[in-house]
Amino acid sequence: MLNYKNLSAQDPEVMAAVKKEMVRQAEEMELIASENYTSKAVLEAMGTVLTNKYSEGYPGHRYYGGNQYIDEAETIAIERAKKLFSAEHVNVQPLSGSPANAAVYFAFIKPGDKVLGLRLDHGGHLSHGHPINFSGMLYNFTQYEVDSETGKIDMEKVRETALREKPKMIVAGYSAYAREIEWQKFKDIADEIGAFTFADIAHTAGLIAAGEMNNPVPFFDVVSTTTHKTLRGPRGAIIMCKEKFAKQVDRAVFPGMQGGPHDHINAAKAVAFGEALRPEFKEYAKQVIANAKLMAEEFIKLGYRVISNGTDNHLMVVDMTAKGLSGKEAEVILERCGISVSRSTIPNDPNPPMNPSGVRFGTPAVTTRGMKQAEIKKIVGWVNAAIEQKDESEMLENIKTQVKEMCLEFPIPSI
Ligand SMILES: *Cc1c(COP(=O)(O)O)cnc(C)c1O
Repeated sequence: MLNYKNLSAQDPEVMAAVKKEMVRQAEEMELIASENYTSKAVLEAMGTVLTNKYSEGYPGHRYYGGNQYIDEAETIAIERAKKLFSAEHVNVQPLSGSPANAAVYFAFIKPGDKVLGLRLDHGGHLSHGHPINFSGMLYNFTQYEVDSETGKIDMEKVRETALREKPKMIVAGYSAYAREIEWQKFKDIADEIGAFTFADIAHTAGLIAAGEMNNPVPFFDVVSTTTHKTLRGPRGAIIMCKEKFAKQVDRAVFPGMQGGPHDHINAAKAVAFGEALRPEFKEYAKQVIANAKLMAEEFIKLGYRVISNGTDNHLMVVDMTAKGLSGKEAEVILERCGISVSRSTIPNDPNPPMNPSGVRFGTPAVTTRGMKQAEIKKIVGWVNAAIEQKDESEMLENIKTQVKEMCLEFPIPSI
């Protein structure tokens, strides 16, 4: 366990909350598709004195003195990210996924310009044009959808919409979409109308870095990703682009959107990218996908409707209404069993976004703990038992005990 002795001694109040969260993470099952556990090395990098530094600008060109070692750390992060994704240019300073996307729009288009993105309730992200998000307020988004029968993106329909609407930019890459994305087809459509291509691979970046899913970086104009989801790094993001867009992307991040970079976090990104370059990470990504495929199959066997009828990546959206409850009710029941999930809309959801019909399940976190097919089968069995017998308090208690036992058998790496 990391040594928190100064924090404990000086501020027992904050330490108490941290400790309870550590116990919660150790004893409970994390099936939220966007979460993961970092390594101890990544956690340690985040706790270094690099947080004390101001370094507005980029390696070799800073607005403050004393940045020679910060430059070293940031350059390592940049070079490793380039290698991981075959990127021509990388900016590692974005503070998180949403600010990274803000910088991308800022770099390529003007307020009021038309952009094409996937509808939020079909699996898109708030920052892809939702009316309550800056993206939907500043830019003129028009949305494409998944096919209501197959649950998959129909590229012919995307093309029709693109030719009709003539957006300046097309956004692909999602938060709750379980299938491989046809990057090349998006690029072809964008070329027909002279639009920029923007991929947001926040969810699947780790699987792409490992070579287990298709990589948009070689042919899209610009790609953003968070670093804390399947990539298993610290909270943060990066932007990758073609060399010809490097200047405009860097200027959009700083001084356009942000001030000083979070140097301790960027050092932790470098550490995480180093881990992702190792062969073990490829094995990890393979297991994440194998676990998710099995999880989807098990749900289908038990009579659940899995959107798109399976998965190619680390996540799936499961319709709970056939079992007589909403996604939110399922989330609450599973929480009582020590299982964390996130409620989710399903395509053309008849229910409102705060109480949608689905639940999104993901395997990145449990796979980091070392759980494999045998554990996945048990987990789906518990989820189903909890949902089918939701009024039996004793049953839910019993599941919670078994969940805890399994979690203690597979400790998380950062505690
Ligand atoms: C998670 C996510 C983001 C936002 O990342 P934050 O770090 O939470 O701001 C952006 N885009 C997509 C597709 C995501 O899934």
